[in-house]
Amino acid sequence: MNHNVLNLVKIQEEIQLKLIESNNTIIAPEIIAVSKTISMKEILPVINHGHKHFGENKIQEAVEKWENIKQDFDHICLHMIGKLQKNKAKYVVKLFDYLHSLDNLKLAEKLSSEEKKQKKKLKIFIQINFENESQKSGITLDEVDNFYKKCTNDLNLNIIGFMCIPPQDGNNELYFKEMKNLLNKYKLKELSMGMSSDYLEAIKYQSTFVRIGTKIFGKRN
Ligand SMILES: *Cc1c(COP(=O)(O)O)cnc(C)c1O
Repeated sequence: MNHNVLNLVKIQEEIQLKLIESNNTIIAPEIIAVSKTISMKEILPVINHGHKHFGENKIQEAVEKWENIKQDFDHICLHMIGKLQKNKAKYVVKLFDYLHSLDNLKLAEKLSSEEKKQKKKLKIFIQINFENESQKSGITLDEVDNFYKKCTNDLNLNIIGFMCIPPQDGNNELYFKEMKNLLNKYKLKELSMGMSSDYLEAIKYQSTFVRIGTKIFGKRN
């Protein structure tokens, strides 16, 4: 078996074990294979294995790698997980199925008008910023209510849940718990949280999409 596929299968088995241990109180998450910076030659075995969800963080790179492949393999769902400039919104609507990084109103407005133009809707996560630091992307907890209402009521975006990259302060579980509370408050279904180092913690708090790169494809350059 190809080494990347083997890595993926090991992660799936590990998660399966956690589900059983939890008496099925944990829901099986989807695994997004984060393939940013990885060449299509390395990704193809994972595609041919039948894996469905892939994540990228740069538009240009994603278009070059995925535009043709996606037509050949129509089971593939593409996830934009990186910071998105609003002038690239049209490419995201065209190529991707999910956007995890909605973090400001101008982008939301642009996405809304692109979706109308292209007659296509993305499944969208609002990115949460726990640190309240201006250099970090995301909506702070006190802004969520207002932002969510604008996105859904005024702009007609399909908001399916919340995404976070927790601060690196060792309190991940605290943030994951906060995310779960947020999800329940808005009666939404999807949480995008957990990366190579913390996905087993994330699924304890109802993460439905874990974003795993390094642990599948190895270290990036
Ligand atoms: C790169 C990236 C990941 C994957 O990180 P790994 O630690 O390699 O699993 C997940 N989420 C986002 C937003 C990323 O940019």
